[in-house]
Amino acid sequence: MSVTASLSASHHVELTPDFDLSAHNTLGLEARARFGATITNANEAAPLLEEARRLDLPLRVLGGGSNVVLRPFYDGVVARMSIKGRAVVSQTPSETVVEFGAGEDWHEAVCWTVAQGLPGLENLAGIPGTMGAAPVQNIGAYGCELVDRFVSLVAFDTSEQAMVTFDRAACNFSYRQSVFKGTPGRFIVVSVKLSLPREWRPNLAYPGLNQLPEDVDAATILDTVVAVRQSKLPDWRRTGNAGSFFHNPIVSADVANQLTASHINMPRYPQADGRAKLSAAWLIEQSGFKGYRLGGAGVSERHALVLVNNGGATQAEIAELAERITSAVRDRFGVSLVQEPELI
Ligand SMILES: Cc1cc2nc3c(=O)[nH]c(=O)nc-3n(C[C@H](O)[C@H](O)[C@H](O)COP(=O)(O)OP(=O)(O)OC[C@H]3O[C@@H](n4cnc5c(N)ncnc54)[C@H](O)[C@@H]3O)c2cc1C
Repeated sequence: MSVTASLSASHHVELTPDFDLSAHNTLGLEARARFGATITNANEAAPLLEEARRLDLPLRVLGGGSNVVLRPFYDGVVARMSIKGRAVVSQTPSETVVEFGAGEDWHEAVCWTVAQGLPGLENLAGIPGTMGAAPVQNIGAYGCELVDRFVSLVAFDTSEQAMVTFDRAACNFSYRQSVFKGTPGRFIVVSVKLSLPREWRPNLAYPGLNQLPEDVDAATILDTVVAVRQSKLPDWRRTGNAGSFFHNPIVSADVANQLTASHINMPRYPQADGRAKLSAAWLIEQSGFKGYRLGGAGVSERHALVLVNNGGATQAEIAELAERITSAVRDRFGVSLVQEPELI
């Protein structure tokens, strides 16, 4: 059975009841939603919201489900983002601007730009998920963040019921943060514009890339990033996971100095504002959790920052494990860990 909402003359949104989300989250948790839908066109956002409101249900968008922890049941409408499209929209002597539909697969988009001779995103290769979710947490890896290449995005504002354009300043990006993280569910990103520099220089500063020659091409960097990621992270297709489960904590220089005095091997990375970023993986490993198991949930043997579904894990087990880790790290180091994937 399906419910069809035909709220605009040309755009129909089909709602599927009792929608199974188990195959749509990389942690592989069993989860269902009261209704599911698929957005393939920006014009479907308004009628979808109208239909959710008619049913008196909340509406959430899901991309690849690689940065969420799903509850067993979402009593609302989950819309899977599938707006496709990629095109060069402008070129100047200094940059090429490319626009993508929010449902484009992030890694495929990176591969496409590099294949077009448009380097600039290669350090962000291999990150699971969709284009539309990339600005939500300002994705980053290997010395590069989305903000470095971001121009603007278009989103449907469910509060104002209108399409709005955000430039870089309006997104308020910082480390794994944006205006969208602070307003969960309010904006549905439908397209993203990125700027790729015409005079490209490889970014090889990050460990794992600094052995590459300075005249390396972007395709080689892309392949190297993918290989290094595969060697470090468990493959979510085999062992469910949501990547890094906690942010790397950023603490004052004083706190970092005190910690370094008692833990001389503790990694710390200076920030531009004088504070220090700590390694959440190191804190968790030192707290004895690498390889730890709790029911079907566990901490990866390969990377202490990755919580895994070893088989049949429940959201409650993941939550209990996350709580044990944060308590242990707080007790031992006095540092609070913040969970990265959103609980929906
Ligand atoms: C193995 C693995 C490795 C990872 N490595 C990295 C990494 O190196 N760096 C990094 O930054 N992240 C990493 N991640 C996290 C994740 O891949 C990114 O956060 C990614 O951008 C999430 O995309 P998604 O489409 O799966 O989002 P989802 O998980 O579907 O959604 C995440 C959030 O964004 C919202 N959202 C999704 N689409 C939209 C939209 N179109 N409009 C508005 N809101 C939306 C959702 O409601 C939710 O709040 C990793 C995850 C995994 C599983």
